[in-house]
Amino acid sequence: MSDRKPFEIARETLKQLTTKKLVPTPANYQAIYNEIAGLPPMTPFPVDILRDIAKSLPTKTPGQQKQRGLLDYAIDRMNWDGVKNALVAYGSFVPLTPDPGTAAAKTAMAVAPVGTSAPALTKEFMGQLGRLIEHTQPALGTEDERFIELTKNLLLALRQSGTDVLVLKNMLLSYSDRVSFVAEDQAEIKKVLLKLLHMLFENIGELSLEEKWLKGQMDALMTAASPPLTLRRLDDVERRLRDVIFKQKDAKGRALEAQNEMRRMLAMFIDRLSKMAKSTGSFHEELEANARQIEQAKSIEEIAPVLKDVVSATRSLALESQTTTDELQAMRTRASETEAELIKLHQELDRVSAQARHDPLTGALNRKGLDEAIERELSIVRRKETPLCVALLDIDNFKKLNDTLGHATGDDALTHLSAVARSCIRPQDTLARYGGEEFVILLPDTVLDKGIEAMTRLQRELTKKFFLAGSEKVLITFSAGVVQLASDEVVTDAIRRADQAMYLAKRSGKNRVVGA
Ligand code: GH3
Ligand code: MG
Ligand code: MG
Repeated sequence: MSDRKPFEIARETLKQLTTKKLVPTPANYQAIYNEIAGLPPMTPFPVDILRDIAKSLPTKTPGQQKQRGLLDYAIDRMNWDGVKNALVAYGSFVPLTPDPGTAAAKTAMAVAPVGTSAPALTKEFMGQLGRLIEHTQPALGTEDERFIELTKNLLLALRQSGTDVLVLKNMLLSYSDRVSFVAEDQAEIKKVLLKLLHMLFENIGELSLEEKWLKGQMDALMTAASPPLTLRRLDDVERRLRDVIFKQKDAKGRALEAQNEMRRMLAMFIDRLSKMAKSTGSFHEELEANARQIEQAKSIEEIAPVLKDVVSATRSLALESQTTTDELQAMRTRASETEAELIKLHQELDRVSAQARHDPLTGALNRKGLDEAIERELSIVRRKETPLCVALLDIDNFKKLNDTLGHATGDDALTHLSAVARSCIRPQDTLARYGGEEFVILLPDTVLDKGIEAMTRLQRELTKKFFLAGSEKVLITFSAGVVQLASDEVVTDAIRRADQAMYLAKRSGKNRVVGA
């Protein structure tokens, strides 16, 4: 502590303020005064923090504007009293029950820690709590009546002024207990529903084992309906199921027609058979009668008419069997036509199925599937204003791989790449076969850097998970272009940009990822 007199210290302080070229604010004055007087140094005035807080205070009403001005002034002067007064006064211009999300609500929260009264804070807090509970409600279902009642009461208590804090605390405790049960129930319900869905898929698959196209679709459905379940995956399940139902209906209708045709032909065949049996039966009888007449005949004159009868019976039998043979021949032709029709139907279904949304070789989406996925992602991007990355990758030297190891091995390599890519990307990402050995990957919620990272990760993954051509390890590499969808850009343009970036990657030596 200095033994100088206060006025001496004051004079010295002013002198130092000038020599140090400091702004003569009360805070600066006080700091130097303390230093000279040997008093403990002052805590520094948090100008930046306070300015930041002041900047976030809305100035919607003249009252708020005035207090905001006073606050800025007090901060400039490093004047705690001024700061306090301005904030307290500002508080009186904030509505007590602000709407959530409004500037006023944010203001109330920003001001509260510095010094508004407790009831305003509590009310705001309880309002938030109420809204949180209300927003959580739809996820918890409406099956548990007790829980619904409990929620209703709790919301009422939260919104009523003057609810006892202890009462509220107890209500919250039983609410949170109940929530844990209800949430467990919901998770269980989801699990069981998923199991049922799987059983259903399995059974449809079993019922139609000979239908190759349907079996393939069912397998894809089972994979799509496996956890983790996201809205995107459910969307995929729905689309696939719609395909299956449509095709099954079509196939069933046409198969039934063919079946009816077969049945009609069989009925005709049996009819003809019985007629033939009858006519041969009567032929035998006639022949027997003729034979008896011949036996009993005493002269050639008596035999002549009998022989005439025999000839005519034989001729009519021959005629009859010729007709039957002709008819049977026609039936056989129609039967093989119907069979051919059925085979054609199956082939057509195979083709339609292959063209549906997935590439039959790799299981990745085909162009049509990609178009649909693009539409879906684009609507999310526009709605939520989230970034979307588009990557286009092309296998390096694939022609050489085909030439040296054969086309079938080339096919296996494509399947391998798809499998590794699928295991490497997130469930919400989309893998599509864009062309022969070109793939497009859509990465929602992803900025360019992260998109490039994802493709580089896939490159690394391919060096770990070798492709085996028989027992030979083959390293598959690719060149990729990655772009982030620009605002107002259509995805096809983004793919074109990615394609150009991919060419740059090829030209600069392949096996690399280029962002654009
Ligand atoms: P680059 O590194 O420049 O991309 O050369 P590349 O040989 O990979 O590319 P190029 O375009 O010359 O050849 C692609 C080859 O991919 C040619 C084509 O026969 C083959 N291909 C396309 N689709 C399939 C397929 O479904 N199976 C197989 N096995 N090969 C395919
Ligand atoms: Mg290519
Ligand atoms: Mg290539």
